[in-house]
Amino acid sequence: MTAWWATASPENQQTHQDALLKRFLRTRAVPFTKFYGKMFSENGIDPRDIRSTDDLVKLPFTSKADFANPRDFVIIPDEAAVKKEWRTLLRALTSGSSATKDALERELRPILLTSTTGRSAEPVPFLYTSHDIARLEEGGRRLMQLCQSDPAFKHVNTFPFAPHLAFWQAHYAGTGHNTFMLSTGGGKTIGTEGNIRIINKIDPDAIIAMPTFLYHLLQEGNEAGSQWKNLKRLVLGGEKVPAGMRRKLKELCAQMGSPDVAIMSTYGFTEAKLSFTECLPTNGDQPSGFHVYPDMCFIEIIDPESGDRVPDGTTGEIVLTHLDSRGTIVLRYRTGDLIEKGITREPCPHCGLTCPRLLGKISRVSDFKNLAIDKLKGTLVDFNKLENILDDTEGLGAWQVELKKRNDDPLESDIVLVHAVTMKGDEETLREAIHNRFTESTEFSPNEILFHTWDEMRKLQGVGKELKEQKVKDNRPKS
Ligand SMILES: [Zn+2]
Repeated sequence: MTAWWATASPENQQTHQDALLKRFLRTRAVPFTKFYGKMFSENGIDPRDIRSTDDLVKLPFTSKADFANPRDFVIIPDEAAVKKEWRTLLRALTSGSSATKDALERELRPILLTSTTGRSAEPVPFLYTSHDIARLEEGGRRLMQLCQSDPAFKHVNTFPFAPHLAFWQAHYAGTGHNTFMLSTGGGKTIGTEGNIRIINKIDPDAIIAMPTFLYHLLQEGNEAGSQWKNLKRLVLGGEKVPAGMRRKLKELCAQMGSPDVAIMSTYGFTEAKLSFTECLPTNGDQPSGFHVYPDMCFIEIIDPESGDRVPDGTTGEIVLTHLDSRGTIVLRYRTGDLIEKGITREPCPHCGLTCPRLLGKISRVSDFKNLAIDKLKGTLVDFNKLENILDDTEGLGAWQVELKKRNDDPLESDIVLVHAVTMKGDEETLREAIHNRFTESTEFSPNEILFHTWDEMRKLQGVGKELKEQKVKDNRPKS
């Protein structure tokens, strides 16, 4: 990897990014998307006023709520504009304009769609042109290289067949890296057993999956006596990966004959149109953060309250600006994701690349829920923290937190139930452990801890039905 995105100094990277941004705003984003054309004119900003990524602070943020009409975010040049912009080019081409027309169509015609999956909001479609697919493939190739996957490896992709980034990123990582990739479609298509049978047969070097599905798969495979001795990588995506999950997955792999498996976590979201990955740490060290591709997007970290940029290495919300996308694009898009230790531009201690990296745990800005627990009225509880605490609890196999109103009365206080499955040890020890973990780190303790079998838990969590298993269920009646 000798490209500037991987090796240039931070100053040099900024010079490259400034050039990309200027070109992108002036020739694509502002003239050809309705939303940004309007945003610039309404705020009296000329695209030429934005000369560097530092100047982006002049622009308002874009957030999910702005996507009332997703088409307004798509680069759609009108014919007159295309003719004007390419007039010189057309004139220069003596051999006729069909090649130019083809090139333009490859750049601009949407041919793939992925969408967001929010349960509360309407799904938002994101369009890709050939130009974007080439970037998705290049992003996937980098993902494979950073994970040090050998093209001779056999990969199994268990992301659900769905118009979602995770599936397509994994698919194009395979084609980009020119490696064998079998996509099973996950649990919905051929069930857990079908996936286990395929893995038994293929004996893959790497499995790409959502962590909870993979955990379920390894457990079932292990219970059925499968030995997956060839596993070298587990590549996780689609949801965040708590430290406890890594440990549990590694333990299961060890039981199934692959003690040296490396667990790689990725971070992607629909609006980014690609995923970022950790690199393979040297000598079993801790991972060094998600490696960002500065030739494809610009990431800034902001204080979610004030909206101001925060210094490198500081907690804040991740905000993304495309630098060279087509189809659907975003500028200064607020992800709602908090990155614990912010962004760094120091060379990576493992792979040595100088691309920016996102450090620490990722959580949702909106994962704070207001609870009225007995005398504690309006207690703000960080459910992210709670999830991490439960995921890291020794002996706890799976869990769900349920919020209810006492006697289902909207005016009553809230009650917190923890549904749990034991992994090892007895229920009483685990009950005590959960109580202790709660009181150590929150102001309250669950009202009740209820134990279940694995099957009951899967039903509670909606594994196989919901795209993401439901770990926190708010069953409080709306008053
Ligand atoms: Zn690295």
